[in-house]
Amino acid sequence: MSKIVAQAVIRGAVSVVKEAQDLLSKAIKEKGESQKIGFPETAFYLPMANALMGIEAKTLKDAKIILEHANSLLPKLPSEQLWLPYLGNALDAGIATLFAEEIIMVLRYLYNQEPQADCNGFFTDTVLRSLGIQLVDGRMPGFAAILGAAPDNNTAVEIIRELQERNILIFVGSSVKGRSIIDQLKEQEVQMGWDNYIVPYGRDTLSGIYPLHWAIRSALTFGGIKAGQAKKCLLYCKERVFAFGLVLGELDDIKYATGAGAINMGFPIIADTDIPEIKPSGITTYEALVKELDHKKIVSRCIEVRGVKVRVAKIPIPVLYGAAFEGERVRKEQLYVEFGSKSSTAFELLKGSELNKIEDGKIELIGDDIDKLSDEKKAMPLAIVIDVAGRKFNKDFEPILERQLHRYINCAMGVMHIGQRDMNWIRISKDAFAKGFRLKHLGILLHAMLHQEYSAIVDKVSVKLYTNQNDIEGLLPEAKKIYQERDERLSGMTDESVDTFYSCLLCQSFAPNHVCVITPERLGLCGAYSWLDGKASFEITPSGPNQPILKGEYLDQKLGQWKAVNDFVYQKSNKSVSCVSMYSLLTDPQTSCGCFECIMAVIPEANGVMIVNRDYGGMTPSGMSFTTLAGSVGGGVQTPGFLGIGKLYITSRKFISAEGGIKRIVWMPKELKEALGDKLKKCCEEIGSLDLFQRIADETLATTLEELIAYLEKVKHPALTMPPLI
Ligand code: SF4
Ligand code: ZN
Repeated sequence: MSKIVAQAVIRGAVSVVKEAQDLLSKAIKEKGESQKIGFPETAFYLPMANALMGIEAKTLKDAKIILEHANSLLPKLPSEQLWLPYLGNALDAGIATLFAEEIIMVLRYLYNQEPQADCNGFFTDTVLRSLGIQLVDGRMPGFAAILGAAPDNNTAVEIIRELQERNILIFVGSSVKGRSIIDQLKEQEVQMGWDNYIVPYGRDTLSGIYPLHWAIRSALTFGGIKAGQAKKCLLYCKERVFAFGLVLGELDDIKYATGAGAINMGFPIIADTDIPEIKPSGITTYEALVKELDHKKIVSRCIEVRGVKVRVAKIPIPVLYGAAFEGERVRKEQLYVEFGSKSSTAFELLKGSELNKIEDGKIELIGDDIDKLSDEKKAMPLAIVIDVAGRKFNKDFEPILERQLHRYINCAMGVMHIGQRDMNWIRISKDAFAKGFRLKHLGILLHAMLHQEYSAIVDKVSVKLYTNQNDIEGLLPEAKKIYQERDERLSGMTDESVDTFYSCLLCQSFAPNHVCVITPERLGLCGAYSWLDGKASFEITPSGPNQPILKGEYLDQKLGQWKAVNDFVYQKSNKSVSCVSMYSLLTDPQTSCGCFECIMAVIPEANGVMIVNRDYGGMTPSGMSFTTLAGSVGGGVQTPGFLGIGKLYITSRKFISAEGGIKRIVWMPKELKEALGDKLKKCCEEIGSLDLFQRIADETLATTLEELIAYLEKVKHPALTMPPLI
């Protein structure tokens, strides 16, 4: 390593550790050693120290221990130290920097100085888990942490767009000469936030610790590595988390020191200034520190140096296309034209056809295109009718493919899609229109994506787009009839009406013993896989994660146990789970991986169960938040009394039927209750107790056990008089 770099790293490390020490001494003086500290919504304490030292830091006193360790990693006499031609010293100094930065950040939280304006601050476990699936299945190929500012706003936007188009998650922050890329993007009105894959962490380099200790937590969460196994954690990051640092503008000592910390995790640093490079690999997969002065080449250089595997679908449309644009909204000010919702008649329909009846790639527009729109009007009617055909295509796949339209259309930059069927709502922005986006491009992208993702079942795709009100009204009744038939097909389906269930092993990549068994009346706990999806997925990829389980005879009808299911789960769980009940929370419940939409937990005092959804950040009457509960439920083990479930399972007739079904529900967050709304009311009605819906408490009625019991007694909740749960 260049001596200049090593010295800068060590100088930076010494100054960050000193800053942490000063802040910590001040905090201890003001609040005492036993003062509690912590980041919001995490089960990993100070994540870097937790992962690398195994320490569960809860107080200022614990922080002191970490800092002492950081201090011991610093080379003794930085300015006079002997020059050693290997990374050792500087790497240790890098780790010391990360520990110190983590402490500075947690102290800022203690003093309410974080998150900074317009910034996310600490990244919670919830975000880590919910993005986990994308990490695991490769939809998100990597992370970029950008520090500093580009030479001008346009360059900043160009770099960001290039990363977005490759679906790389981008953390932006730090600054150079008082200017941060965060403000450059804000000035250019670039939409930021998790949905857009652009997350501002903070305007100083110290807050660069957020993306780093977010990454290290994935080793603990998804890698199954235990806290304290430092080498394994670092290696996991190198091998599994495809992150890199992109420094725009000059590097100072603190950036060098933080960069050295990142290099320890296997994350290379790419700079746009003339810095001394570190070429040898080992700690990182390829080079550790490189420069690329040409901003047009810098993104591809980053990808090459980190070895990120990007699957770019080059769709021939005039706007950028990628999952990074999926969550982007087209707001009123940006609106060029919209279809559906309150603005006009619209629907979308995908149906199977005979192979010889359609011409692959044929896109027809019947009616005016959007450039014929008169100035004052902003809405048009639209019907999107897609015909697909394939030797292996079957009617059951229609709704599954149709459901992808939402994602496919949203991935075009400047195009927004909400809803489905005849309740869809599509918006096209002025920018997209100006770039040349027209209705036929909707057809082009749908054709391309259906081929790309469903080539196993789809051989031909053609798209018709109608914009004449009369045509659309003429087609609508037929579409409605098809929607209704589909609903009947699905809602009529019971566990008894089929002879086969489907497994899902997708989550074994991070919960190695976890098996989801999916039945018509119980979907996967992530909410993303229904029985039909499992069936389709098996037919699409017969050797894939969804395998049929011929259920055979019952072992126990009440619990929902079958011998064949048990045998299957035993084999696929690496012989760690031998019995699974489909309908019970207490006897051999299913395992939970980590992606559950909701967690259900027994409340013994209420003789019932509470359910909490992932988005609910508050306290529950069990005395635990969602995050805390998630810590004890996940990992692919059976935890009687606790269960991760998909939202829709709550309204299934098989919902913990072994324990008495929905009458056991005593509490759920208001938001969840409202989301289930009519469906849940219908279930209450079906069991002849319509007012059960009102009797289920939410956080506006009770957040503690005492309040809950008092409420249940007041409304005479049925759970109180049911047979004892335990
Ligand atoms: Fe994971 Fe189960 Fe969802 Fe499959 S169904 S992705 S195993 S949670
Ligand atoms: Zn999972």
